Amino acid sequence: MSPLSRRGLLGGLGAGLGAGLAAGALPARAQRQIFDPQGGGTGLKLSEAQVAAGRAFVAKHASVDIHAHPGRFFLRGLAQQNATTRAMGEPFEAKALADMAAGHVTAALFNCVADAVLLEASRTGGLAAAREFQPGEAWAEYRRQIGVLTALVTKGDAAPGQTPHDIANALAVGRTAAVFAVEGGDFIEDRLDRVAAAYADGVRSITIVHYHPNQIGDPQTEAPRYPGLTPLGRDIVRAMNRTGVIVDLAHASLGVTRDAVEVATRPMMLSHTNLKRPDVDHPRLVSVEHAKLVATHGGIVGSVPSGIGQKTVAEWIDSILRLVDAVGVEHVAIGTDMDANFMPVFADYRDWPLIPAALLARGLHEGEVARIMGGNFLRVLAAQK
Ligand SMILES: [Zn+2]
Ligand SMILES: [Zn+2]
Repeated sequence: MSPLSRRGLLGGLGAGLGAGLAAGALPARAQRQIFDPQGGGTGLKLSEAQVAAGRAFVAKHASVDIHAHPGRFFLRGLAQQNATTRAMGEPFEAKALADMAAGHVTAALFNCVADAVLLEASRTGGLAAAREFQPGEAWAEYRRQIGVLTALVTKGDAAPGQTPHDIANALAVGRTAAVFAVEGGDFIEDRLDRVAAAYADGVRSITIVHYHPNQIGDPQTEAPRYPGLTPLGRDIVRAMNRTGVIVDLAHASLGVTRDAVEVATRPMMLSHTNLKRPDVDHPRLVSVEHAKLVATHGGIVGSVPSGIGQKTVAEWIDSILRLVDAVGVEHVAIGTDMDANFMPVFADYRDWPLIPAALLARGLHEGEVARIMGGNFLRVLAAQK
């Protein structure tokens, strides 16, 4: 158990919860809020002073959303729409960036979606690849989406986010930096030189596996084809470490994660997940052992406000604190997956200050909250070179 648990961070949920969590016995909450897509039912019980503390916090500390798709920018210019992408509607980068500025989000990892053209809603409600790539299509899709991101920075809509210095600068001038990222390593194909090309484009993180089973390894949402990383997948992880691109293990199977930990020489991240619980299981959730693998060597695990096992912001805060107890405060971060999250319980960047407000209200110190909100990511980014 971590020192945080002994201090009773989760005490608000019931007596002895720290120990209860270790044994997996999370008491039922007396009054459950019903999920409210308008964001009205946050479940948070914060005083005005506590909300004000959250606002002061984000004005002072760099805060980073380690996994996002702001305004669903990846849809802009998408020629081949399918029912799933059509249902997502038009992209809205300008509104997303205005909300991020209002919420004082210092930086976010703006994730392209490598396999966007392949994905369709599956019968079980998740996403799955409905077809394979055509020759040249994966690279063309990458180029299209990176073009959208490059234009955002060139036009001055988002601040550059390639280095920790860029992010410190964004905090100083009150802007939001776009850290370019790609969810899915499909576009690399068998071309290791594309890792360096992506770095040159400004990409600082690649989620090596997404929903489409690719050349690197298996997603956690599909029946496994391989025990872990493929030989090419191992080479791609090595190339990313050499080049300075963060390896993101979100969506990756446990086998892929184990192999990546064995191969990697730089800290990695698992950008958007939560812990499995005795009463809540889902292929997108991970075990404590799985999370700890990523936390080794300075890695980080981002907590996601998806509707899997949580119905309110307050319940998401519980998920963040479970991760803190499992892997330590130096290894936890925030990855919202906005604006492509599944049944989000947190869906408005203007509410971003509520996250540090709630963490402070639950008893974390300012320095601990600063790590979760951005400091841990900045450490991982700085450690890639
Ligand atoms: Zn994802
Ligand atoms: Zn995502």
